[in-house]
Amino acid sequence: MYPQIIPEELYEKVRAISEKNKRGKRSIKTVYLLRDKMICGYCGMPVVAESNTGKKREPDRFYYKCKGRKRKLNDCRKASVRKEKLEQIVLDTIMNRLTDKGFMDKFVQDVLAEQEKRSRERSSLQTLLKEQRQNETTLNNILSAIEKGVVNNTTQKRMKELEERQEELERLILIERSKQSAYYSESQIREYYEQVLQAEPQTLINFLIKQIILYDDKIEIYFNTPTTGPDNVRGFLFCRLFL
Ligand SMILES: [Zn+2]
Repeated sequence: MYPQIIPEELYEKVRAISEKNKRGKRSIKTVYLLRDKMICGYCGMPVVAESNTGKKREPDRFYYKCKGRKRKLNDCRKASVRKEKLEQIVLDTIMNRLTDKGFMDKFVQDVLAEQEKRSRERSSLQTLLKEQRQNETTLNNILSAIEKGVVNNTTQKRMKELEERQEELERLILIERSKQSAYYSESQIREYYEQVLQAEPQTLINFLIKQIILYDDKIEIYFNTPTTGPDNVRGFLFCRLFL
């Protein structure tokens, strides 16, 4: 409380200013919906938040800017983009296309095709495992031959080859295993996107978008899909917009 020696009118003014500052503090926490999702199409650096923060006044303009350009880490010339405008374009596009039957039919087919491709990769895991088992048997046979004293240069050379191949196979199997994921039906994939559509914008973006590549005249939006594997760094191309 202010001491009552301050006239009533002045007290009101001070209170109003202090209220405004409180609001100002809150408004500094502007939510950048696409933060951490975008990279610059020209230099590959993250695209980060930028505002016209002066020493005295509250920022009233918000942008997304290439970090390379902002921090002068390179000579990238990517232009800043108004935050509201870019977020609106991305959200509108996602909403429009997720509710566009023709677009979604094609998109779901593409996701299914990608899943098929992964499934074929999994069958190459089976081939690798089979070769590993066969090599193991051959190696055991050679070892018992050695125990029986049946050894010659050819046997030793063959054994060395097999051992090297086994090491290689172990690495390849590890890679193939990391690509494994569950198998989804067409209706499950559709259901996934219908559910996501109900979410709040920030949740929708966090959940759906793997990465956005931002150019001055073009935006590429990459989606997480139920079938996207851990090795798929960029995600699945959802759409390419020309500005
Ligand atoms: Zn850049």
